[in-house]
Amino acid sequence: MEKADFGQLCRDNATADNHGLSANVLPITRRYLVDNNKEKLPVIWLETSDSGDNNIAFMNTTFPYLNQVFSDMIDLIYSNTFMAAQGNDALMLMDDTINRYHGRFTLVVEGAIPTKDGGIYNIIARTKNGPITALEAVRRLGAAAQYVVAIGTCASFGGASSAEPNITGSAGVGQVLKREVINVSGCPVNPDWFVGTLAHLLMYGKPELDDLNRPKLFYEFTIHRHCQRRSYFDKKDLAKKLGDIECMFSQGCSGPRTSSDCPYRQWINHVSWPVKVNTPCIGCTNRDFPDGSAPFFTPLPQKSKSEGTGHSEQIKPKKGEDT
Ligand code: SF4
Repeated sequence: MEKADFGQLCRDNATADNHGLSANVLPITRRYLVDNNKEKLPVIWLETSDSGDNNIAFMNTTFPYLNQVFSDMIDLIYSNTFMAAQGNDALMLMDDTINRYHGRFTLVVEGAIPTKDGGIYNIIARTKNGPITALEAVRRLGAAAQYVVAIGTCASFGGASSAEPNITGSAGVGQVLKREVINVSGCPVNPDWFVGTLAHLLMYGKPELDDLNRPKLFYEFTIHRHCQRRSYFDKKDLAKKLGDIECMFSQGCSGPRTSSDCPYRQWINHVSWPVKVNTPCIGCTNRDFPDGSAPFFTPLPQKSKSEGTGHSEQIKPKKGEDT
């Protein structure tokens, strides 16, 4: 399949009708591996400081099942979340991967990296020579990897783990490593965004990225552009309270300044997303999430009747917003 056709597939396969991208991409990667006599994408998946939401979202995907991704597309060599091996056996596997796959494996990091006090607030292993911090592991693995992919907003930009007062000095992977990091942000990441990015790396190499180093395949447009309530916004017809059917810009919706394809790809096997269930977008794919979106669900200031509804003034786009 040509690269341009794959890009189209990513955009076309974003609905429940066809089980989403993840289900459709596996036959393509399988065929690619056979036709080109290639091996699966070798992956080290390191979970650091996060809530585990990204791997949970990934595990909850019905199309495809997690094991199909592992058996048909990626060779998951080390994962401190998914692997059965523990202790020395696990550590040896990581060391062995660095030697055997130097410059050929993809490092996936899920979670922010605590940097304060030498990174002591996240330890991935204890050895007789002392603890191995996430900071040390990411630096070591990042220097040997072909690609580094940060999944989730914590890994991409620090996210909730680096929210004020950030007592652990947590930061995104790109802030810690002196190399390019592909950010697949979201809290959590949509499994399609992750599977699609890995498939692109396997078959075509690095995808085209936006100015936050995110694949344009999934983050090119704002939520606001494709939101089902957009016609209300255009008519300046805003919700007066949560639960109203109109545009929720008045209730603090971050859709105009947040990029992702949530309105049509949707979540939980592609059936729903926040605005569809009456919840304003909280901007979870953004670099400044969550501090930049907080406090969530803050209604716009109400104006007195003598000043009119105030809507036309209030919904003027700010710099950087897509209306
Ligand atoms: S402001 Fe929010 S609810 Fe309104 S159209 Fe934009 S994304 Fe949808």
